[in-house]
Amino acid sequence: MTTGRLLLATRSAHKLAELRDLLQLPGTELVSLDEVGILDEAPEEGDTFEENAAFKARFYAERSRLPTVADDSGLEVDALGGRPGVHTRRYAGENATDAENNAKLLQELGGVEPQRRRARYRCVLAYVHPSGEVVFTDGTLEGRIALAPRGTAGFGYDPVFEPLTEPVHGRTVGQLTADEKNAISHRSIAARKMGDHLRERNRWRELPAEDGR
Ligand code: IMP
Repeated sequence: MTTGRLLLATRSAHKLAELRDLLQLPGTELVSLDEVGILDEAPEEGDTFEENAAFKARFYAERSRLPTVADDSGLEVDALGGRPGVHTRRYAGENATDAENNAKLLQELGGVEPQRRRARYRCVLAYVHPSGEVVFTDGTLEGRIALAPRGTAGFGYDPVFEPLTEPVHGRTVGQLTADEKNAISHRSIAARKMGDHLRERNRWRELPAEDGR
């Protein structure tokens, strides 16, 4: 039985697959921006992950009239004073590829020894109900930036991010299976909390099965 639809407001196929796996909302149809035909792009101009996630979720909830979950995530590197932070996706330029972003990061950290390459992935999820109510959950994955990229799994900075559960020069997230990544990732922590919240409060049942109009 389908009890309603929830919009996952991302165009990243990777984020979408991870969130679909992790939210665990039986009976709820999880739809993407492309599936509901929304072409508009929410600007990302906030100074924090929370601001950006809430802005994106409100922006797409207004357009879809569906309860909406948006993700804002990124990388904080201690030796760079917490950069690239909210600029993670466009660190090496507006349309930078993952490889360009990784190359810029390794170059900026050139000569920095492993103990001083501490970093963390952060993920903030914002849920917006069409009534305007907002709920946040978050998750963090602590790690360090590798000396060189290794592995092809995942996306973004995964080939240069060694979780602290690995020894120095151990596996990067790019060398983990999807299940291994989902067991520890910032997004999985935030998504499990959000799934718990939505299930406990039965919020997804508050809307009619169609589009809430
Ligand atoms: P945004 O949330 O669209 O601003 O983009 C966040 C950026 O952070 C992504 O484009 C990736 O570069 C990076 N990022 C976020 N989560 C992950 C992850 O799980 N693995 C690798 N990179 C990530």
